[in-house]
Amino acid sequence: MTPLTCQNYIADQWLNAVSGDTLESRNPAVNSELVATFPRSVTTDVDAAVIAARQAYRTWRLVPAPARAEYIYKVGELLLQYKEELALLMSREMGKPLTEARGDVQEGIDCAFYSAGEGRRLFGQTTPSEMPNKFAMTMRMPIGVCALITPWNFPIAIPCWKAMPALVCGNTVILKPAEDTPACATKLMEIFQQAGLPAGVVNLIHGLGEEAGKALVEHPDVDLVSFTGSSETGAFVGETCGRTHKRVCLEMGGKNAQIVMEDADLELAIEGAVWGAFGTSGQRCTATSRLLLHRDIKKQFTTMLLERTSKLRLGAGTNPNTDVGPLVNTSQLQRVSQYLEIAREEGAKVLIGGKIANEGELQHGNFFQPTILDSVTPKMRVAREEIFGPVVVLIEVNSFEEAIAILNDTPYGLSSSIYTRDINRAFAAMRDIEAGITYINGPTIGAEVHLPFGGVKQTGNGHREAGTTAMEVFTEWKTVYVDFSGGLQRAQIDNRD
Ligand code: ADP
Repeated sequence: MTPLTCQNYIADQWLNAVSGDTLESRNPAVNSELVATFPRSVTTDVDAAVIAARQAYRTWRLVPAPARAEYIYKVGELLLQYKEELALLMSREMGKPLTEARGDVQEGIDCAFYSAGEGRRLFGQTTPSEMPNKFAMTMRMPIGVCALITPWNFPIAIPCWKAMPALVCGNTVILKPAEDTPACATKLMEIFQQAGLPAGVVNLIHGLGEEAGKALVEHPDVDLVSFTGSSETGAFVGETCGRTHKRVCLEMGGKNAQIVMEDADLELAIEGAVWGAFGTSGQRCTATSRLLLHRDIKKQFTTMLLERTSKLRLGAGTNPNTDVGPLVNTSQLQRVSQYLEIAREEGAKVLIGGKIANEGELQHGNFFQPTILDSVTPKMRVAREEIFGPVVVLIEVNSFEEAIAILNDTPYGLSSSIYTRDINRAFAAMRDIEAGITYINGPTIGAEVHLPFGGVKQTGNGHREAGTTAMEVFTEWKTVYVDFSGGLQRAQIDNRD
């Protein structure tokens, strides 16, 4: 297939980087296949995008929210129309199996229709004033120019999650997608363009995180940064935004666990574990990376899990028979391999997998065998650090209380799950698990766009994406008092003796 030539999108113009420098995006299933070239943008390019977004903000914020929402609705319709094309491109560009890629696009579609509805629901409050003949209300104000810095693992869904509510709220945006998925971001931008959004309302800047991303985060005329990615980069983004007084929303790492109690439906719990651990090759922020198994079922569960895992078919995401695709790039493959070395040094036992898969076709891509590690204790690095690959650790627990304590014993707090038939335990788990998301009798993955998404502790910084909570990220409250008494009324003074 002919490689795509991606460009930046600034003020409705498709542009190369001023320097003319480019970077490459390759198919992780066949590293020799070039998927796209894209601009290596630096500060000058970022400056142009920020100027365009600032200019557009002056008029976009005045477009009525329901009218802004109609553009987003149109984007949703177009995404639906291009769903298959986008899914194929995504599979080629970052490796996830086609069924999952379709789900990723569908999440963008869901987000479009959901956000569009919110255009007619940007409610504020009215409340009685403490004074006579005085009216009080609150209204949502857009924030301004928003930089959206996104990862490669949900190359359509995550940019949509961020851009759509931001735009409905009256902000203008600059998307800086991950270096591994420039083609998906470019196609998404073409769809925004086709939907007819005014020039400068949506902009796209390609490039390296340390160059284009950093320039955006440091730019004095960016008002808000919404970031999803690694904890290390998130710390930099948070620190810089603090120093430069920007609003900031961070979504970072996870070390999600699934508890399986002795009374669980084991078949169901196995299905959930396989999907949660190996879906998207374990490269989801919400992937299951720890299985906390009650001692009474651990042996049986492990046997069943091994049997199921041994049947998973590794392959290119574009092959309809593939269950587990490649890792996104060679450095990710190295990182997962290194964690396997660490696991062995720490005394963990590899029950299945544990190696780079390089038989036949697989030798051309970044494939790692689905891996299960046993004899893992909660203090081992493989039980504490995010691996972001098809690796799951098994930890034996003796009780419900111990399971919850181990689940919580991590600096992260994104997703979590418990399989049990005991309603009392289910409710206690909902209350006691320290995570932004808890599934009862479901795997740790499977978020829906109309509910808040995000995590506690070091996973986030207190914000939630998606749902109505996205509106909290992308607006600020204004409080308005209207005095129709015709006189000066002093609060806390004139209405008191
Ligand atoms: P991952 O490990 O998931 O690739 P990263 O945090 O490296 O996570 O990347 C997530 C996003 O952050 C990408 O779009 C990347 O280009 C961007 N990024 C990386 N480093 C920086 C940085 N120093 N400043 C701003 N953005 C960055």
